[in-house]
Amino acid sequence: MHGCDLLVVGSANADLVTAVERRPAAGETVLGSDLAVHPGGKGANQAVAAARLGARAALLARVGDDAHGRLLLDSLRDAGVDTGPVLTGGTPTGVALITVDPSGDNSIVVSPGANARLTPADVRAAREVLASAAVVSLQLEIPLETVAEVVRTVGPGTRVVLNPSPPADLPAHVLAACDPLVVNEHEARFLLGGPPDAGPEPGATPGPGPYEEWARALLGRGPRSVVVTLGAAGALVCGPGGTSLVPSPAVRAVDTTGAGDAFTGALAWRLGVGDGLEAAVRFAVRVGAAAVTRTGAQASFPTAEEVDRL
Ligand code: ATP
Repeated sequence: MHGCDLLVVGSANADLVTAVERRPAAGETVLGSDLAVHPGGKGANQAVAAARLGARAALLARVGDDAHGRLLLDSLRDAGVDTGPVLTGGTPTGVALITVDPSGDNSIVVSPGANARLTPADVRAAREVLASAAVVSLQLEIPLETVAEVVRTVGPGTRVVLNPSPPADLPAHVLAACDPLVVNEHEARFLLGGPPDAGPEPGATPGPGPYEEWARALLGRGPRSVVVTLGAAGALVCGPGGTSLVPSPAVRAVDTTGAGDAFTGALAWRLGVGDGLEAAVRFAVRVGAAAVTRTGAQASFPTAEEVDRL
């Protein structure tokens, strides 16, 4: 019996959002709407998504000893995430400064703050927590050397799921540990060095077409399995046994923010409780679909009952 189904190692950010009529030019000041502060960061989002579904999920992250850090800890605990491994203090909590214009486009400045101070030494100190998890889920909003240390530290009984977001080149030993590597179109394109004329026009709904080749090419880079998320089209699962498309339920999409984190948190949890990869993806596409029917990131993540009703 593992100590938890899922340990997420990653970022926790406060998202500070204001709506503007237009973006300021250099040296200019514009007025925005009342500030909204939301809990975010890919690590925290994945942990919240899994816990809300019923997972025994924990988060290894770093936040500041400040109001944003307390907001994040409260939202994690409200969702049922074990925050025991969260480290506090030393640096301000990570913040994403987000302006939204009338067309709905975002401009985002991220100040990584405490996320950048989650170190390999922190990982070594959490060795026992890492060893007790059925699955460890990673993203790249913390230092790459910390991600690499997690992969070196987990025991053979722990499965590693990695979403390389924001995209970066991965050391071979990290790629080799991924089971699966979870990518969206942009991340796949980055890791493959930008396949020239594959992929949809911006805003188009992608089908499996070129992505099957992409998934196989990514598998050739060393991960044990690959999942490519395709928005409304669902997700491709690719392993040594072949590639299959798992369609997403058709829903009325309102806001796709956080859909990828909901998908990956759900996927990692299901793997942690013993599902096979394809079964876990079948569940995760329904969680992703449910998440796009509501606005926000963590606020949009469904419970297990809501997924059942879909
Ligand atoms: P984001 O960056 O918006 O969080 P992403 O680009 O990482 O998301 P997507 O492929 O857009 O990831 O979405 C993840 C999953 O969410 C999909 O595999 C799918 O199951 C679900 N999903 C996303 N958009 C839709 C949609 N419009 N309709 C139904 N399901 C969707």
